Amino acid sequence: MSQSLALVGIGKIARKQHIPSIAAIDGLSLVATASRNRAATVDGAEAFPDLTTLLAARDDVTAISLATPPGARFGDALAALRAGKHVMLEKPPGSTLSEVETLVSEAKAQGVTLFASWHSREAAGVKMARDWLKPRRLTTFRITWTEDVRDWHPGQDWVWSAGNLGVFDAGTNALSVMTAILPAPVHLASATLAFPENRDTPITADLVFDSPAEITAHFDWSQPGDAHWAIEIETTDGAARLTRGGARFETDDGVKVDAEDAEYKRLYANFLALIDVGRLDVDLSPMRHVADAFLLGRRVQVAPFHW
Ligand code: NAP
Repeated sequence: MSQSLALVGIGKIARKQHIPSIAAIDGLSLVATASRNRAATVDGAEAFPDLTTLLAARDDVTAISLATPPGARFGDALAALRAGKHVMLEKPPGSTLSEVETLVSEAKAQGVTLFASWHSREAAGVKMARDWLKPRRLTTFRITWTEDVRDWHPGQDWVWSAGNLGVFDAGTNALSVMTAILPAPVHLASATLAFPENRDTPITADLVFDSPAEITAHFDWSQPGDAHWAIEIETTDGAARLTRGGARFETDDGVKVDAEDAEYKRLYANFLALIDVGRLDVDLSPMRHVADAFLLGRRVQVAPFHW
């Protein structure tokens, strides 16, 4: 069945990924938007200042996609579910595990789909890496996810406010790939989080997981130049490397895939497929590692951050 979609939060990722991807998917039409910014409109979609007004005016909307920051998402998600709409959440799905669990209960009570999307899992090399690793014995899994926050979130002050995760906003992408690839779950053993003295969220994080293999993650938002989103995998039977955020996968035998980005098209296709079969997809495992890092992590203070 085709879905009439409303998109909430017409910011950077909505314009760069959501809107073109929605337009490319059969069976999905963008009929309405909600954004506090009156200038944030999309051709062909009716613009509303907030979701409450949108829901009251557009009974025909069947699905809502929320591209707002995690700290601003829960109230809208709950309202959309209570109105009987299918809901897709940007990553990370919320500010806390408990609030997302509340959304899961509400979606089940309403009999609608809730999809907590993890776009990096849709990168072309991720499933290939999982299948390559499955029959092998892991010895090292080293995540290095570094970028310049000034390039990727220019002026977005929300990334530094409590509940919006700081460098874990990018780090959850790596953790979503890790949890999709490792053959068995792992848990965090130790972490160090560096907070700029004038901000509520960390700018770097180093994680060590409890495992017979060496599993580590280094996240850094203060690296100028090109982003470096890589996972190096070593096993007793060869090595492999995921780079470009998972879009490129190579083993000792050479490059297996190096594809153009189609992550958000796959996400919207997945959302439609879940609606069609009446299912939810909410995997909290990447976010659980982040919550554990905040619980367990040693906190160090570093120089103030200014844009
Ligand atoms: P953004 O450019 O700041 O856009 C956020 C949107 O949410 C704006 O339209 C803002 O519009 C709206 N909003 C509503 N309540 C808000 C609040 N309390 N604080 C700030 N904005 C609020 O952010 P973004 O980069 O698109 O990121 C949004 C989500 O997408 C995040 O979860 C992020 O992790 C995810 N994401 C981002 C990227 C990226 O490269 N930037 C990539 C993948 C995923 P109004 O002010 O007009 O309402």
